Formats: sequence, structure tokens, C-alpha cells
Amino acid sequence: MNKPLILVVEDDGTVRNLITTTLKSNEYRYLTAPDGESAIAAASNQQPDIVLLDLGLPDIDGVEVIRRIRCWSQMPIIVISARSEDTDKIAALDAGADDYLTKPFSVAELLARLRVTQRRLTALESKTGESVFHNGSLTIDYGAGCAYMDGAALKLTPTEYKLLCLLAKDVGKVLTHTYLTDKIWGSCWESDMASLRVHMATLRKKLERNPDTQYIQTHIGIGYRMLKL
Ligand code: CA
Repeated sequence: MNKPLILVVEDDGTVRNLITTTLKSNEYRYLTAPDGESAIAAASNQQPDIVLLDLGLPDIDGVEVIRRIRCWSQMPIIVISARSEDTDKIAALDAGADDYLTKPFSVAELLARLRVTQRRLTALESKTGESVFHNGSLTIDYGAGCAYMDGAALKLTPTEYKLLCLLAKDVGKVLTHTYLTDKIWGSCWESDMASLRVHMATLRKKLERNPDTQYIQTHIGIGYRMLKL
């Protein structure tokens, strides 16, 4: 099997070296781009498996890079940004980024994010066209409109079921509050955000009766992700 090819887009040489050294010692292949335009060109010419994208680039904004790549490709994009750039992170996720890393990050975090993204890719490839979703003890039968935990039907409200399906459809990906409220209520008012928190809390209570198994991860101020078990 080919080693995954990672496109590293980062203008800061120190961070770039940290990333490429990590990739090299962990059996990844990589190529680098120091700015947005060359990143878009490399993404198109080299077809990397995953893009690691710094948001603050010298020429065009990282979010713009995502938008332009998303016009023609669904290749996974992991955004790298400073903690102060939370709103940029949300914009990046809404533009189609798959995940994010906050600077400063550790080598272990970087590798964990890459593994999550690879698992998500595998899950996407295997589930294409399937009408039943499996993740750990959770099963969703889309045809029947029912969800099961360890074979027992979960009593979900229509909103909880919709939320569960949205999270499952993009298992492994962080979905922003805006994305979720827009999909469920067609809007994203403050009151929708509050409702989302309530529905998510009741959904999690039903899903995570066994406290050792976590299905949904909360990203404070950003959104939620279903973990691939
Ligand atoms: Ca930068």
C-alpha cells in the first residue's frame, strides 16, 4: 500500500519543519507549499491524500484556499490556526475543512488528527451506498428511520434523530453549530444555538448510557463531532 501523501501548507519555516520531520518519521510522504496559490496548484497537480493548511498565509486567506479546492475536490483538509482565530476556524469548517489543529500543537496531536482523518476516509469509502450505518454499538437503519444501541431501539425525538443522522453522515468530522442549526431549522439564531445544546444533551444521554463509551465530542464554541469507534 502507498504511504499517504500529505500537502503541508505553511509559511512559517519552523512550524513547517516540525510538521515535515514528524511526517517523515511516521511513514508519511509529503510536499510543501509556502502560500495559498502554490497550495491550490499543488493540490490540483499532485492530488495529495490529505492537506494540512495554515489559515494565515501571506497571499490569500486559508478559507479562500478551502473554497477553491472544494470547487473540484473533497480531499480532506485539516486546518492549522492560532487559538485567537476561533471565528476563522469556524469559517474554515463551514467552507469545507474536515478538522482543525490549534497552534501550538504537539506532534502527538498532529498524528492523532491525521489518524482521525484517515479513519474518516475509510469509513466514507466503505459506507457509500449503504442504507445501514454501524459505529461501535450504534446502528442506524436509514430506511426504517430507526437507531439502535446494542440492538435495542433508541427512543429518539425527530430532532434528535436528525442530529444523529447528520453527525453519522460526517462521522469523524467536526460540524459547526451554524451548519447543524441550518440543516435542522434552516436558520442559525441565538435561540437555535440554545435549542441545539438542549437536543444534543438529551441525544447524548440516550447514546452514552455507558459512561465509558463516548460517541459525540463537544468542541466548545465551535461544534460537535461523532467519533469513529
Ligand atoms: Ca502563517
